[in-house]
Amino acid sequence: MSLQNITVIGAGTMGNGIAHVFAQNGFSVTLVDVNAGQLEKAVTVIEKNLDRQIAKGALTAEQKQQTLAKLVIQTDMATGVAHADLVVEAATENVDLKLKIFTQLDALSPVGAILATNTSSIPITKIAAATGRPESVIGMHFMNPVPVMKLVEIINGYATSQEVTDAIVGLSKQLGKIPCVVNDYPGFIANRILMPMINEAIYSLYEGVADVESIDTIMKLGMAHPMGPLQLADFIGLDICLNILNVLYTGFGNPKYAPCPLLVNMVAAGKLGIKTGDGFYQYIPGSKELSVSNRFKK
Ligand code: NAD
Repeated sequence: MSLQNITVIGAGTMGNGIAHVFAQNGFSVTLVDVNAGQLEKAVTVIEKNLDRQIAKGALTAEQKQQTLAKLVIQTDMATGVAHADLVVEAATENVDLKLKIFTQLDALSPVGAILATNTSSIPITKIAAATGRPESVIGMHFMNPVPVMKLVEIINGYATSQEVTDAIVGLSKQLGKIPCVVNDYPGFIANRILMPMINEAIYSLYEGVADVESIDTIMKLGMAHPMGPLQLADFIGLDICLNILNVLYTGFGNPKYAPCPLLVNMVAAGKLGIKTGDGFYQYIPGSKELSVSNRFKK
């Protein structure tokens, strides 16, 4: 199965990173978003990240130009997917939106094109059922930041064919990534294990077992994690963490996944972590200094 023309749907945090790695590895990439401003912003981000790679000696100026030459942007989905061998969908995490996008992709993409989704938590089988080609639908879950993180969690839906899985495993290796294939159950593997750890860290704070810095320091120094779980939750976004915990909670019907009431409260209060400037820590634009949020200061 030859996969050369790649269309990425959604030019946000993940979409621009996915487009970046495909283009850098010589694939022809069309990046599609409903928002033209977001597409322009994505190209600027990709340029900045390529410059960062040049500064580190990981890329030459010529390779940067070759990468950018492989990338086109498009607001019209029909035009964007017309020649796609593979579509990687990285639009906003919303079930109804993804079902609508996959119905459109099925109608507009060439027969035989693989349709992949970067969803963190929506069942691949459900997304595949919105198409007439469920055997060609697969999860291709990149990690943030995409150009840096090595893992691609590949999720087989109920009907995904072995041929499609093999093709996506091979393609991930061509991107210099390490693929791991898992089955389609709530949270897959990455979030099924990560989110309960984050939830437990929040419960530990909520119950007064330890303060923010102690919890994060224990996990950083004791478990060699590069970031403590509370800082990581701020980085991911507390609303995203809550959504994924609810997916685990309802998907398994098991109270062990119930989100901590403190997390629920923080999301209701709009304290979502880095993106709102306040979460377990507070974030001052332009400053790399990490200080515990006033709410949790002793
Ligand atoms: P984001 O909000 O940064 O970007 C989403 C983009 O999708 C926006 O630019 C929006 O304009 C676009 N979009 C919305 N509807 C569209 C449509 N109909 N057609 C084309 N584009 C459309 O989101 P993100 O953080 O990049 O997340 C994208 C996906 O990746 C989600 O499914 C998310 O769960 C998953 N994911 C995110 C992370 C992360 O750390 N951010 C990590 C792994 C997976």
